[in-house]
Amino acid sequence: MLFKPDFALKNVLDIDGPFLKKNNIKGLILDLDNTLSIHGSPVEEVGVLEWISDMRRLDIKLSVVSNNFKRRVKPLAEKLGLDFISFGIKPFTFGVSRAVKKMGLSRKQVCVVGDQIFTDVLAGNLSGTRTILVDPFLLETKGLMKLKRKIEKSLFKRKF
Ligand SMILES: [Mg+2]
Repeated sequence: MLFKPDFALKNVLDIDGPFLKKNNIKGLILDLDNTLSIHGSPVEEVGVLEWISDMRRLDIKLSVVSNNFKRRVKPLAEKLGLDFISFGIKPFTFGVSRAVKKMGLSRKQVCVVGDQIFTDVLAGNLSGTRTILVDPFLLETKGLMKLKRKIEKSLFKRKF
């Protein structure tokens, strides 16, 4: 099933040592928008930087493959210290295959991680890697925002 991810997790922060070990995953090809950051945001989401250090400590190879333009992908990928391929034209396999080759791993040891079935999951499945579908960070932020507002409301009455 080309549209079916091997795993579905809440976000990248749920990818941890035991999960990777259990599933014999040695490399992660990461989507950028809504996977490592909110779409178009110049900064990563909370916890992502620490998560990347954890992955490095576990000797997990990381690479970004994004469909977005270089001017968007390069600054954030460099800030995070990650190899990147921009304009990766997922679901075509070109970008993902190049990233796998660069990692020096077999396809089955690598997971494509992203928030979109028709680009990330499809590209991973077509290129013979495994796939992890995550919820987009944007929705979570919206939910979190709602929660913040609720808490705010319970603490004080807004005058506007
Ligand atoms: Mg995305």
